[in-house]
Amino acid sequence: CGIVGYIGNKEAYPILIKGLRRLEYRGYDSAGVALINDNGDLNVYKSKGKVDNLCEYCSDKNVSGTIGIAHTRWATHGEPSSRNAHPHYSESKNLAIIHNGIIENYAELKEKLQQKGVHFVSDTDTEVLVQLIEYIKEHKNLDLLTAVQVALYQVIGAYAIAVLDKRDADQIICARKQSPLVVGIGEDEFFLGSDASPIVEYTDKVVYLEDGNIAVIRRGQDLHVVNIQGEDQELAVKTVDID
Ligand code: GLU
Repeated sequence: CGIVGYIGNKEAYPILIKGLRRLEYRGYDSAGVALINDNGDLNVYKSKGKVDNLCEYCSDKNVSGTIGIAHTRWATHGEPSSRNAHPHYSESKNLAIIHNGIIENYAELKEKLQQKGVHFVSDTDTEVLVQLIEYIKEHKNLDLLTAVQVALYQVIGAYAIAVLDKRDADQIICARKQSPLVVGIGEDEFFLGSDASPIVEYTDKVVYLEDGNIAVIRRGQDLHVVNIQGEDQELAVKTVDID
C-alpha cells in the first residue's frame, strides 16, 4: 500500500515514520520498518494496526541507522497480522523487502523454492520475492542488482518494491511495474515514496520511475536507473511545486 525509504546522513527512523503518516490516507492494516545500523545489523520491526502501534512497539527497540525502508500494508495474500506485515526478511535475514501490489504466480514460485529447502514464515506473496532474490543471489553468486533483475524476469504481477541488503549498507534497490514509485533527490541523501507526499518536505527534485525501471540508490553516488535488461535509462528529474 504505502512505501517510504531513506538513505543519507540523518537518522532514518523519524523520517520513515513521518513518511508513513503522510501515507496513512491510503488506508492500511499494518505497518513496519527495516533499518541497517552502524554495526551492520539489519533490524525489522512490524506491527498490526496503526503507525502509532508500530511506534509503541519500537519504543524499546534499537531504531538507529541512516538507511531504511518502511511500509503500510493493505493485505491481499495472508491475513492482517504482524507476521504478514512488511518488511519481509529472506531466510538468511540478509535481505529485507517491502512491496506494493500482487505477485500473481507466487504459489508456483513458492513451491519451487520450498522444494529447494527454503523455509517461509508468512502467508504473503511478498515473501516469495525476497526469498527468490536471495536464492538467486546466493546460488548464482550475483550482485544484488543482477539478482533482482533475474528474479523479476520470473515474476508475473504488479509491484513496487524496495530491498535492503545487510551485506551492503550503502544501497537501496527498488523497482516498479504497474505500481508507482518516486525517488527524491536531496543533498547527499535520497528519499523514496509510493507517491511524493513523504518526500516534498525534504526536496523538490524527484524522479517518477517508469514501468520496468530498477533504481540503484547508493550513498554518495548519483541515482542510477536501469531497465530489467540492465540497460541504463535516462533520468527525468522533475521539480515538484511544493505549494
Ligand atoms: N500483496 C502484498 C501483501 O498482501 C502487498 C499488499 C500491499 O500492497 O500493501 O502483503
